[in-house]
Amino acid sequence: MTVTRFAPSPTGFLHVGNLRTALFNYLIARKQGGQFILRLDDTDPERSTQEYADGIQEDLEWLGLTWDRMERQSERLDRYNAAADELRAAGRFYECFETPVELDLKRKKQLNMGKPPVYDRAALALSEAEKDALRAERSGHWRFKLDQERIEWKDGILGDLSIDAASVSDPVLIRGDGQFLYTLASVCDDVDFGITHVVRGSDHVTNTATQIQIIEALGGSVPAFAHHSLLTGPQGEALSKRLGTLALRDLRAQGIEPMALLSLMARLGANEPVELRSSMEELIEGFDLSQFGSAPTKFDVADLGPMTAKAVAALPYGEMEQSLAELGVPSDIAPAFWEVARENVATRAGIADWWALCRDGAAPLVDAEDADFVATAKDLLPAQPWDGDSWKSWTTAVKEATGRKGRGLFMPLRKALTGMEHGPDMSKLMPLLQKHRL
Ligand code: GLU
Repeated sequence: MTVTRFAPSPTGFLHVGNLRTALFNYLIARKQGGQFILRLDDTDPERSTQEYADGIQEDLEWLGLTWDRMERQSERLDRYNAAADELRAAGRFYECFETPVELDLKRKKQLNMGKPPVYDRAALALSEAEKDALRAERSGHWRFKLDQERIEWKDGILGDLSIDAASVSDPVLIRGDGQFLYTLASVCDDVDFGITHVVRGSDHVTNTATQIQIIEALGGSVPAFAHHSLLTGPQGEALSKRLGTLALRDLRAQGIEPMALLSLMARLGANEPVELRSSMEELIEGFDLSQFGSAPTKFDVADLGPMTAKAVAALPYGEMEQSLAELGVPSDIAPAFWEVARENVATRAGIADWWALCRDGAAPLVDAEDADFVATAKDLLPAQPWDGDSWKSWTTAVKEATGRKGRGLFMPLRKALTGMEHGPDMSKLMPLLQKHRL
């Protein structure tokens, strides 16, 4: 069975970059009828908070990205300890004592000599007596001893990849303060939960190489890996610093529709065009990981505006019935009201404005040069209630009385009745106006 996971750290709110990862893993699992796991990577007790853990779940729920199971790394520390013992017993784990300053110095020296800044494994040469002496001063951290060979895998997006393990530092898996680092925890979880596919950002490619060796050292089976490109801004500029301003909850507060956001993210960076989908089933159906490329993916938050307007316009009446009733739209005119409002709002919130206008009428907008014209039109306005012919008969009468035609006839009348220059077809809007203020 296909099993995927989305593994955010609850150290912040989700942003559009995280969403890409979440969505791809979700769609892969759903397309295969598999399982999607939400895993909270919360081994860092200082930075992980319950507020963020709740926020992540709320954001995923808002988008309809449901998970079959949730796991928290902070509840699995025993398992990580056991894995560490296993790696020690296998001779793949060694204790190191360099301070961050010492490591930094080593790196600088290597770079000065034109060498890659790879950890030199000096700790492997320490005798037991030397280690004891160091332990008395400070606590050690633990590194996984990579087999220095080429690590190869077929990446679901990047194709054949190969990384020389000798060019990578042995990863630290346990910090000096005893905290398990993500790499060990993630590997244990992926093995234990039977993860079959991992899609994540291309910033994880080197992690993947080392994780493949750790998985093998623990006797697990290696999932299929795929690394999606990172998002950039519309001009190709790095987005990493701005991602904080592209939090999913902020987009929600701005009225962005889930389907607009999901449809965009499911296709951005793919060979196929972005298409607005109307349901999760359609999104799942239309998703194909092999269509994605390695080039950085341009993301323009402004694209979400028009997609949201389209998504709202595409909402079927049945889905809106309840909220229209809550707004106070009488059920006999609600379907007709929805037909008019749906085409004329940027977000769902705009529907309330149209209803306020229909219910109360709008303050007329009359330009000085149209004052007499509008006064004449007012006298000719048919009595309410209005129907689908009211606009036609009114404008015909006004035309005859004033000789005006075209835009000079229609625009001042629209502005007088709605207070706006733009809006729906007036013959459809007039029957919905419960009152007018002309
Ligand atoms: N917590 C990790 C991250 O957010 C998970 C990476 C992974 O998918 O393995 O970067």
